[in-house]
Amino acid sequence: MAVDVVFAENAALQTLNTFGIAANARYLAQPETLDALREVLQRARLESLPLLVLGGGSNIVLSGDFPGLVVRPCLRGIRLLGETDAQVQVAVAGGEVWHEFVIHSLKQGWFGLENLSLIPGTVGAAPVQNIGAYGVELQDVMESLLAMDIATGELHEFSREACRFAYRDSVFKQELRDRYIIVEVRFCLSRKPALKTAYGDIRQELQAMGVEQPAPWQVSEAVIAIRRRKLPDPALIGNAGSFFKNPVVPVSQFESLRQHFPGIVAYTQADGVKLAAGWLIDQAGWKGRRIGPVGTYDKQALVLVNHGGASGADVLEVAAAIQHDVAERFGVQLDMEPRVY
Ligand code: FAD
Ligand code: NAP
Repeated sequence: MAVDVVFAENAALQTLNTFGIAANARYLAQPETLDALREVLQRARLESLPLLVLGGGSNIVLSGDFPGLVVRPCLRGIRLLGETDAQVQVAVAGGEVWHEFVIHSLKQGWFGLENLSLIPGTVGAAPVQNIGAYGVELQDVMESLLAMDIATGELHEFSREACRFAYRDSVFKQELRDRYIIVEVRFCLSRKPALKTAYGDIRQELQAMGVEQPAPWQVSEAVIAIRRRKLPDPALIGNAGSFFKNPVVPVSQFESLRQHFPGIVAYTQADGVKLAAGWLIDQAGWKGRRIGPVGTYDKQALVLVNHGGASGADVLEVAAAIQHDVAERFGVQLDMEPRVY
């Protein structure tokens, strides 16, 4: 069935990326159904337009105008697929807002997403980097997903294993990068709370709230309170969350670092030792520092912020300076988390 989708020309993207970087797209399309999305992809193919798939724009850096088509899938809906006394299976359309789904699930008595409260962006983007916070990752709650092949418009189902999830990583950032649009994510959530409060500051926050036996919604509220205090609100200060991934180094390198820097913040993992990138950046003298319109956030050095009017090049200049200083001081390479377009 033919569906008319508007291709807005020379569309402004400043309000569509949380860094607030001013850039334009040659075309912008915001399809609301699968048929409309298929049609948009077909037209992009016919006109050989480069494609940028956009969700909430909270994990990207726009380095300039985009010369092709920005497609923002706006598919909505939450469907209950099945339930038992212990669990529910839910299918969520890719255009749903992640945090709204977290709150919706808590209200339904579906648990498991508490620690992932207040992460910006869409449900469809969540598997791309296997979003994670406070010791929980998307892969802990996701069962499978549906994605549209950009080249053919066909739908494919991916099991959790097929997504090859890793730390802030998936097959959609690697071999299948730019090949699929995730249109639906299927979750398996629990009806019985299994709370994880040992990570970061959650336990202290619950204590400060006067809560001894937390309910899931209280863990969510604690996470929201910590995040509101510690992270810049993109509506007020442009940012893309953590700008670098926490580097994982071999145990031998960590031991040698610890001899020189006894206060180094680190966590043992199966594959080595994870260093807190925020600590490295802070120690390299970057906490709260800025060059022109871009700096690090004064409460969390891992977050780069746009103090106003920054371009993508301004952001990347500061990122490169931080990477240089951290490498020089600690011999550790910091990899960027957001994708640069
Ligand atoms: P976008 O930024 O629009 O896109 C990100 C990438 O995914 C792009 O490459 C895009 O092409 C691709 N993509 C988007 N939608 C789809 C789709 N439907 N199908 C295929 N590819 C798609 N991340 C965490 O993991 N944990 C956190 O705790 C966290 N906290 C944050 C806090 C703040 C204040 C901010 C600004 C960001 C934070 N992030 C965090 C990063 C970000 O919110 C997540 O990565 C989020 O999943 C990005 O969603 P988005 O819809 O904004 O994606
Ligand atoms: P934090 O609590 O100050 O902790 C600093 C770092 O230590 C975090 O990066 C975290 O690693 C690690 N950490 C803390 N407790 C740990 C534990 N018990 N075991 C293993 N590692 C531990 O961090 P924060 O900056 O306020 O962020 C809190 C959580 O939200 C973190 O999970 C963080 O990843 C997430 N977050 C992510 C983004 C993003 O854009 N990706 C933005 C804001 C917050 P991990 O990062 O590996 O968890």
